[in-house]
Amino acid sequence: MDFMNELLLRNQLKLIPESGAQKQQAHQLHRRAGYCGCCDARLDPVSDIKIEQGEAFIERPPGAVVLPQDDSVGLMLELLLDSPPLDEVKHFIIAVHTDCAVLKACRDGCGDDKPHTKRYLKRLDEVRTKVMGKAEAQGWTGDKERILKELEKESLLQSIDNVLALPVVQKAIAEGKLKVHGWLLDTATRAIYAMNPETREFELWVTMQEAAKGLNVSSNGR
Ligand SMILES: [Zn+2]
Repeated sequence: MDFMNELLLRNQLKLIPESGAQKQQAHQLHRRAGYCGCCDARLDPVSDIKIEQGEAFIERPPGAVVLPQDDSVGLMLELLLDSPPLDEVKHFIIAVHTDCAVLKACRDGCGDDKPHTKRYLKRLDEVRTKVMGKAEAQGWTGDKERILKELEKESLLQSIDNVLALPVVQKAIAEGKLKVHGWLLDTATRAIYAMNPETREFELWVTMQEAAKGLNVSSNGR
């Protein structure tokens, strides 16, 4: 069946709870978090992490790459910080994931037949140079899995640093209004690894299944 017809069928069959409209309205002005994750459809912050509708601003750039002075992320943060509840600490999460096609392309390189991919990957040039330099120095240039793991970490660090460099973020952090989190989502096990801001290493935070039972993004405590 054609994919659009199949989607139509799925949506016709979808049950909408009676209280759905009211519930959505109740959450409309309750923005507690911003979330930047990869566009990969295997991951869905609403169903996987149980972010409620209206509770977060969500952006899905390929590879969850945040640029320096990123207007899209900056705009989202300005909206988030201006939205009720204003007496609550807001959270911004950047989530990379395992088995990411963007990071694999970054690792393996890309030909002139894919001009968009090639141009997009330029934003990870420094990350790739750093990882490959480390691989050469330590003798693991042939270990593709390890290179991918390092790219996940280094690309997340670059994006976090780019978010932390935004004046709007620096002001909000100084005023105790915002916390920034880095996550690695394991696509296979659905586990969430949070980056420890002191060691900059990933630590198991919670599995997505546990998150779905009712924990929310503000439970991190960092
Ligand atoms: Zn991805």
